[in-house]
Amino acid sequence: MAEVFKNYIDGAWVEAKSGKTFENRNPANRHDLIGLFPASGPDDIDQAVRAAKKAFAHWRLVPAPKRGEILYRVGELLRKHKEEIARGMTREMGKILKETRGDVQEGIDTAFYVAGEGRRLFGATTPSELPDKFAMSVRLPVGVCALITPWNFPMAIPTWKLFPALLCGNTVVLKPAEDTPHTAIKLFEILEEAGVPRGVVNLVHGRGEEVGAALVRHADVKLVSFTGSAAVGREIASVCGQQLKRVSLELGGKNAQIVMEDADLDLALEGALWGAFGTTGQRCTATSRLILHRDIKKELTDMLVARAEKIKIGDGLDENVEMGPLINHAAREKVHRYVQIGKEEGARLLIGGSIYEEGKWIDGYFYRPTIFDQVTATMRIAQEEIFGPVLSIIEVKSFDEAIEVLNGTPYGLSSSIYTRDVERCFRAMRDIEAGITYVNGPTIGAEVHLPFGGIKDTGNGHREAGTTVYDIFSEWPNIKVAPPGPKAKAVVEKDQRYTAPAYGRVYPLVVKEGRGMVIEDVDGNLFLDFMAGIAVASTGHSHPKVVKAIEEQARKFLHICGSDFYYEPMAELAEKLSQLAPGSSPKKVFLTNSGTETIEAAFKLARFATKRSHSVAFLGSFHGRSLGALSLTASRSSHRAHFSPLVPDVHHVPYGSECIPYLENVLFRHEVSPEEVAAIFVEPILGEGGYIVPAAEFLPNLKGLCQRYGILLVVDEIQSGFGRTGKMFACEHWGVEPDILCVAKGIASGMPLGAMIAREEISTWTRSTHGSTFGGNPVACAAALATINLIEAGLIKNAGAVGNYLQESLGKLRSLHSCISDVRGLGLMIGVELAQNGGKPDPKFRDRVIAKCFDQGLLLLSCGESTIRFCPPLIVQRDEADIAVGIFDAVLTELGG
Ligand code: NAD
Repeated sequence: MAEVFKNYIDGAWVEAKSGKTFENRNPANRHDLIGLFPASGPDDIDQAVRAAKKAFAHWRLVPAPKRGEILYRVGELLRKHKEEIARGMTREMGKILKETRGDVQEGIDTAFYVAGEGRRLFGATTPSELPDKFAMSVRLPVGVCALITPWNFPMAIPTWKLFPALLCGNTVVLKPAEDTPHTAIKLFEILEEAGVPRGVVNLVHGRGEEVGAALVRHADVKLVSFTGSAAVGREIASVCGQQLKRVSLELGGKNAQIVMEDADLDLALEGALWGAFGTTGQRCTATSRLILHRDIKKELTDMLVARAEKIKIGDGLDENVEMGPLINHAAREKVHRYVQIGKEEGARLLIGGSIYEEGKWIDGYFYRPTIFDQVTATMRIAQEEIFGPVLSIIEVKSFDEAIEVLNGTPYGLSSSIYTRDVERCFRAMRDIEAGITYVNGPTIGAEVHLPFGGIKDTGNGHREAGTTVYDIFSEWPNIKVAPPGPKAKAVVEKDQRYTAPAYGRVYPLVVKEGRGMVIEDVDGNLFLDFMAGIAVASTGHSHPKVVKAIEEQARKFLHICGSDFYYEPMAELAEKLSQLAPGSSPKKVFLTNSGTETIEAAFKLARFATKRSHSVAFLGSFHGRSLGALSLTASRSSHRAHFSPLVPDVHHVPYGSECIPYLENVLFRHEVSPEEVAAIFVEPILGEGGYIVPAAEFLPNLKGLCQRYGILLVVDEIQSGFGRTGKMFACEHWGVEPDILCVAKGIASGMPLGAMIAREEISTWTRSTHGSTFGGNPVACAAALATINLIEAGLIKNAGAVGNYLQESLGKLRSLHSCISDVRGLGLMIGVELAQNGGKPDPKFRDRVIAKCFDQGLLLLSCGESTIRFCPPLIVQRDEADIAVGIFDAVLTELGG
């Protein structure tokens, strides 16, 4: 029975979703079945990329030296299993043991070399033009990396990519070549044993056209690192170009060795022999052209033919064998085809040129070492990559001609020159068009600490190995200093000296600029904003359309006082708001500067209109801080402490459905008659009090009670309004029309504006009964009109959809973190309740989580006793939700919650 192997996804060995498999056979003996491997498809890729994306949130935060330590363990395990892996590799892809040992050794060297880099990974610090600015750039990971590799170096090439990618903090999905899946399994068994965390590395087997292509296309893959043929490389580059994805390509070669008339011919012979026939000519750096000066051509050709004829062909597991088989039937067909082409082109076949199927070798894909003479530089066999044991000899008359011939192909990977003339060496280094040039050495022989890669059609300019590989797998982000940086500190110090100590700042965010979802502080640190300036920046920071509206109005006039004069933006906004407010009855609008002022206005109007003095509000509610609004507020006693006496005749009752029997049976019976109650003030979702969504019957029942007693229902939508919950106003979720609707916050994207929208029949104020010098400022009105346009045009829908997604993602964290006792909310108004020690609220822990998220670049705020609110701008996208959840998850892990 054939052994069945699996994919490695999210820390588990799994079959392909289709259940299908493909065979892998020994190229030295096609009857030797190595095993069955998963024939995966795009679904498997999607699963692997998701796992990698999720793991990225943790892995990127693991310190680089720690990541290096894991790689060090990987290196030790590779060393321990070197012989076993090398033997398996020879069986799998045919190259001789000496070479497969070298291949595994390359992986070992890379592991140790890269592990050490964990303690360096240098950035750059430079002086700044400004006196108080400290300039530095640091390396940050890119994200999920797709690694697609060929079969000819099944350990070296994956590790060249994988280890630096991991060290930089990326997570990966590897798609190895179909011909060498088993070596990849061995590598992943070691990665698992070494303790690489779940999801950080993922392995998906399958056909390149299907699985490889799906991986490249996947939207969550941020970088593709590919080694393989130029044809596939081109396809991948074009997809990545369309998607503006980072891509590193290491492609084919048509490498040449020049031998000048003054060369050491014995040395040159060794170079040509192993350059051409090592790995059966299946190296990207293989010597496929031998450019010989005419003075030594005959002598070296004779030496080479004599030696090549004696090359011992056979199963690479036999220590005496010097050349193994080609990788598969198609490869041998291709090589043989090129031999026919060479003959047709007029080249003279010196040796080989035929399939080797003597004795038991009939069952393998062997081919004789082949040498063509009288090859001209433009023949196809001298131009195209054959990828087999075929060497073309080209005669030249001079050094300049040799360089010209060497440069005369589309490729530019490796090259070599044999000469004793130091001047020629330096001219060759200057004039050869190749990524690598050896002097008096073969075209093969990479070392892990030296940059590796080609020019022209061999790649797109990246260099693997060495320290240059980190430029592929890391970003150089902005100038950064740990928050609070020196500039932030200076602002905080000044602020603390001169501003009132009442402000409750939670972390030292000193903003320089906001763009969309991102805030940049004065030191150049970037933060993802999931608090929107307490749910105010509804259209994100400085939305261009809002900014344009503000600029246009600011150019006309800034202020005239809406209490005394008229202007179009105010009238237009009032009209818009009265149309937007729920319910069909006509409305009147009073504009203010803030939520507090809006509540204050509603408080006054309710008394004025009903001629009743009492009001009811809810425990846990927040309505503002002016004395009137504060009298209604009861979220934290500290807000009210030492400000009494507050406005009398305000009664607080429990929030939620149980308030109805309480009002009827307790308050109205024992304390105040309902006929004396002017209004009930209610937040449809408790905001500051903990983002609590009441039961569905709560608001309709409250409305019914108000109607029974002629009490006005004042709905405070200051936080929940303007699309945040997935409807324009939260009360619309329950079909309730308020008598008075109070709005502010999200209405104008951050410009100070509030509005009280009352049913016309209640709006009984007479001339000059109430007013506001700044309320309804024309610039703020213009901002509000632009904001409302954007909200209506799609942000409401987005808030609903991304809100559900965010709430679901946060909900999933509950199974990972026992400290999360509840996740609740509507749309983009989501509260995560944190508790410690068997469910007890823990505000201190909550505050530490918020502070740590700030350190990690995520802005959050608290509410309730032990809740964190997620209230990002309504423009937030799923990707950003993923990042925020990832950071939050990692912070909880770090703080042990
Ligand atoms: P290949 O291009 O056929 O395949 C390479 C990998 O790409 C495989 O994993 C394959 O499954 C995958 N693939 C195939 N089609 C794909 C597609 N449409 N989308 C995504 N992935 C796809 O190459 P190969 O035959 O495995 O390897 C030989 C080639 O690799 C030669 O041209 C050789 O020169 C080159 N190579 C280059 C370097 C270098 O560093 N420059 C090193 C080794 C090999």
